[in-house]
Amino acid sequence: MGNQGREDEPLYETFSELFGKGFSLDWSTIVFLISVHSAAIVLFSWLLFAAPAEWVRYAALWAVIHCLVGSFSTTVYTHRLITHNAAKSVSAPVHAFFCFFGQIFSVQGSVRYWSANHTLHHGVDRHGNREVDPYSATWFADPVRNFLWSHTLAHCFFHPRTKEVVKAHTAKRHPIIMTQERWYGLLTTFWIFLVPMALGFATGGWIGFFALLAGSMIGTVAIQHNTWTVNSITHMWGWTKGLSSSAKNNYVWLGPVGEGNHHGDHHDFPRDYRNGFGWTGWLLDPSRYPILMMRAFGLLGELNKASAKEEAAVLGSRRMDAILPNKDQLSADAQALYTQLEEKVLELRKDWVDAIGKWESLKKQNRFVQKASLSRQEISEEIRQAKAHVNAKKEEFFSALDSLRRQALALA
Ligand SMILES: [Zn+2]
Ligand SMILES: [Zn+2]
Repeated sequence: MGNQGREDEPLYETFSELFGKGFSLDWSTIVFLISVHSAAIVLFSWLLFAAPAEWVRYAALWAVIHCLVGSFSTTVYTHRLITHNAAKSVSAPVHAFFCFFGQIFSVQGSVRYWSANHTLHHGVDRHGNREVDPYSATWFADPVRNFLWSHTLAHCFFHPRTKEVVKAHTAKRHPIIMTQERWYGLLTTFWIFLVPMALGFATGGWIGFFALLAGSMIGTVAIQHNTWTVNSITHMWGWTKGLSSSAKNNYVWLGPVGEGNHHGDHHDFPRDYRNGFGWTGWLLDPSRYPILMMRAFGLLGELNKASAKEEAAVLGSRRMDAILPNKDQLSADAQALYTQLEEKVLELRKDWVDAIGKWESLKKQNRFVQKASLSRQEISEEIRQAKAHVNAKKEEFFSALDSLRRQALALA
């Protein structure tokens, strides 16, 4: 396939080049997107200039609810639970609720289709082959084309049916997901058009009809663009240094209910039911709460989560990438010295990560001991010591890293 791992080299110059590479226009999606966007603009203008104030409020309320239902369904269900298998099992009521109701409001294709494309999007982190990421933000030489492609145009094309594409598109086989795919057109017509129009007409005649349809169209366009910002913006710009995946940022509020925040963390641990390490994740990732609630009600199996040790390994290496200067810019002598110092820092990082691993396994053991009501105090003391050891090792690693940075700057 070529260009493996060469992140800076464009694969294509222009959009028209794609036609020679097996891409073709998906007219039904194009017509649908243009119609929905046009309807949203026309109806929004009507709300703004001509509709009765009372119905403007109902339309706004409908749009907000539409957006929230669609956003949570995309992040919680289609993205984390289905695409990334964040829970060991998902019960039938959860599948049914999202497939026949919630996910329809995202208006981005069936669960199966969305999940397949997103699996391919993450694939690039494992094998580095960017051609496989359907909405890659790195295919073209200029940022305008990259933005347009990753944000919207990728969805307007049929992509070549490569081996990877076929595999991803046939991966999810749950009977409820398959049923949704079969009835997807009808489900969309029902929830996105018929329900708002009928409810509006029944309660407010033609004004109600157009007002709730306006809410539905505006909600549709808003949630589509909100989701697409994750594929475009978080993969194009950002200031988080030391990320090793295709994601470019970690701390911007973008995308539906937490998916764009910490997108770098998500790419490092896609199977995690959370999006974001540490306390900031609890603030910026609302999508984890419905998952925890469903788990508490027994609707989901055990949840996947990066261990503290895995998190520390990622954070430690990001920190090194972020603050250390480029070794290649040093003279040969300076490089030798630098490598020696770097080895020491790497050793300290390993000590710190290992200390966390030990502390974590003691905590697990503690839960077990508590059940057996054995020497609880002893193990508590051991955990306290292990945690103190973690803190000391962390301190050592960070100060060694800092002094390496200062020495490298002096050498440069
Ligand atoms: Zn991504
Ligand atoms: Zn993902």
